[in-house]
Amino acid sequence: MDVSPARSNRMLEAADWQAPDWQAPDWQAPAGAAMVNALSVDVEDYYHVWALSGAYPRDSWHLPERRVDASTRRLLALFERAGVKATFFVLGVVAEEFPDLVREIARGGHEVASHGYGHQKVFELTPEAFTEDLRRTKDLLEELAGRAVIGYRAPSFSICERTPWAYECLVETGHHYSSSLHPIAHDHYGAPDHPRHPVRCQQTGLLEIPVAVVERFGKRLSCGGGGFFRLLPYAWSRMNIARLNRLDGLPATFYLHPWEVDPGQPVAERLPARARLRHYSRLSAMEGKLERLLRDFAWDRIDRRYGLVHTPAVQVDNAPAAAPRLAATA
Ligand SMILES: [Zn+2]
Repeated sequence: MDVSPARSNRMLEAADWQAPDWQAPDWQAPAGAAMVNALSVDVEDYYHVWALSGAYPRDSWHLPERRVDASTRRLLALFERAGVKATFFVLGVVAEEFPDLVREIARGGHEVASHGYGHQKVFELTPEAFTEDLRRTKDLLEELAGRAVIGYRAPSFSICERTPWAYECLVETGHHYSSSLHPIAHDHYGAPDHPRHPVRCQQTGLLEIPVAVVERFGKRLSCGGGGFFRLLPYAWSRMNIARLNRLDGLPATFYLHPWEVDPGQPVAERLPARARLRHYSRLSAMEGKLERLLRDFAWDRIDRRYGLVHTPAVQVDNAPAAAPRLAATA
């Protein structure tokens, strides 16, 4: 593995981040139009979820019933009805098992991006293992989608102060942006001091696009999806996304998982009460809430929303003939 000896282990500090030029045309909503937000899906199955790892250890992942193909297609149908395009951060193990699903996502005009190969947290990997994980997943997804993969989201938002080398690994492997930080205080993840708006890493040029967070009552509150969206009333997310758009002038970057629209998934036994509550509550209400969210706000893929779509297509011999020329629509 080619690993740059110059790779930095110095912690990235506030001075290392640069806000992009908000006045550049790529970042602006058309005059008089609604603020366009960025919609994303982390394509993984219920047994990949870290909070359920006590019930589904990694070495037993070949056993559980597969649900991700059907639940992702349910989301694709929902987005189609709403006329919305999104970014799908696909796990490598899911792409290997369901290659047609990745082709279907690309054919639908959505962005195919990487969620890494086996859902291992970045801070549990060495820089060498992380680089290998990135390369393997990117090659796999590009072959299936017939398009360059430029975006990455770390499993469980696990890029943090323990992984100062992560952005160099991402650039080395040809990624242009990361959406791997959730800038709140949280028991499983979080980067509470990181800027709430997209920033460019000065050393590597990589753009980090954090999940949406508002500041209210002196606190940072997530309005970017996950359990916050599913467990709290819809009005909470609606109010805070509107506030982020209107008062802060920022687009919201929102995320969800296919298993969140799958109330029929198996229920794991012997889980801590908190994990059970977070994972299984209000699954049946999720699809209706999503329909409202897609109706109430304007949405697009992350790469197009943030002006990153001008990347030339990779030439792949076995790309599907019908692969859309997405860059031409930017
Ligand atoms: Zn994940």
